[in-house]
Amino acid sequence: MVLGQLGGSITRALQQMSNATIIDEKVVSECLNEISRALLQADVQFKMVRDMQANIKRIVNPDDLAAGHNKRRIMQKAVFDELCRILDPGKPSYTPKKGKTSIIMFVGLQGSGKTTTCTKYAHYHQKKGWKPALVCADTFRAGAFDQLKQNATKAKIPFYGSYMESDPVKIAAEGVERFKQENCDLIIVDTSGRHKQEAALFEEMRQVSEATKPDLVIFVMDSSIGQAAFDQAQAFKQSVSVGAVIVTKMDGHAKGGGALSAVAATKSPVIFIGTGEHMHEFEVFDVKPFVSRLLGMGDWSGFMDKIHEVVPTDQQPELLQKLSEGSFTMRLMYEQFQNMLKMGPIGQVFSMLPGFSSELMPKGHEKESQAKIKRYMTMMDSMTNDELDSTNRS
Ligand code: GDP
Repeated sequence: MVLGQLGGSITRALQQMSNATIIDEKVVSECLNEISRALLQADVQFKMVRDMQANIKRIVNPDDLAAGHNKRRIMQKAVFDELCRILDPGKPSYTPKKGKTSIIMFVGLQGSGKTTTCTKYAHYHQKKGWKPALVCADTFRAGAFDQLKQNATKAKIPFYGSYMESDPVKIAAEGVERFKQENCDLIIVDTSGRHKQEAALFEEMRQVSEATKPDLVIFVMDSSIGQAAFDQAQAFKQSVSVGAVIVTKMDGHAKGGGALSAVAATKSPVIFIGTGEHMHEFEVFDVKPFVSRLLGMGDWSGFMDKIHEVVPTDQQPELLQKLSEGSFTMRLMYEQFQNMLKMGPIGQVFSMLPGFSSELMPKGHEKESQAKIKRYMTMMDSMTNDELDSTNRS
């Protein structure tokens, strides 16, 4: 994921700043310019980058940074807070409740991954004991119904659509009614993909929304859309009341910054991300762990979950206690590296460790990354006991 490169660039900019002997306004500005450049390259909207830079400048006082504090930490925290602020619109999206009918309408550009995502969303909930159903209200694209039917059949999810009927509003209303009768608790309506210039299709989307009265409208966005994300997302928001965003194709070469723009344009949170073409390649999106991993700061809660999977049970209590005390030493890291190497796939776990960006463990490069770990372990082999047991993190 190219987002890892963004994290890497930001981490490098922070590193350079903390290496400077004197931290003055010039050094802080240079660091911020570097971070802004990285964000722009990742397709984050120019205005958002400018606002973020101004906010951090206001928060970070070079005098504080110079007074022996951990400069990198202060700056990193400010960047972290700002990225979280952008990605968190401040209000949660509508949350469907199991056992109570919710109607969820999916909208987005053609090719954004909408139909695939509808099925992933249904499948995700089905695994958790829900009773989802899919309605194909896309009568515009030839083959749309076949695609949904195929996906739904594979996942054993009931579906509704028509080869003959050309009115999407009628199909949507009929499908929703049918599945209400069948007591489905998650009725998912897939609509035609559209472009912001296509006024007629936007009108049709509005009518489908009126006819089905969705509890939640989800805007599906391809993460590679780049700088166009803001305008497109805003166009959708102006026609129907978008309440959540799902960003797809986060596994590809997308720069991912568009996700931040979509949140800003729709004032709605990202709730899931798509990380591949397959049904299970779908993850719940949480702002803080995401930004944390992006900045190479680790994801402690995810890491704790993973510990239970990879660390031998008899070693878990000691490790958890040391982590909760904040005394994560080189020795502990060495032991975890040993565990990870023993346990096979380690990419996911590694990206959760603070101090390591996902750049170090890109998908498909596990072998090289494994070699990197072994190199780190060799370096640690030459450390003194004091160095291995030190908890000083400055
Ligand atoms: P729609 O026109 O918006 O309904 O888009 P589709 O659901 O037909 O998806 C378009 C293409 O994107 C298909 O080839 C999907 O397999 C692919 N796709 C969807 N989501 C993802 C994803 O998260 N990652 C990747 N790599 N491909 C995806």
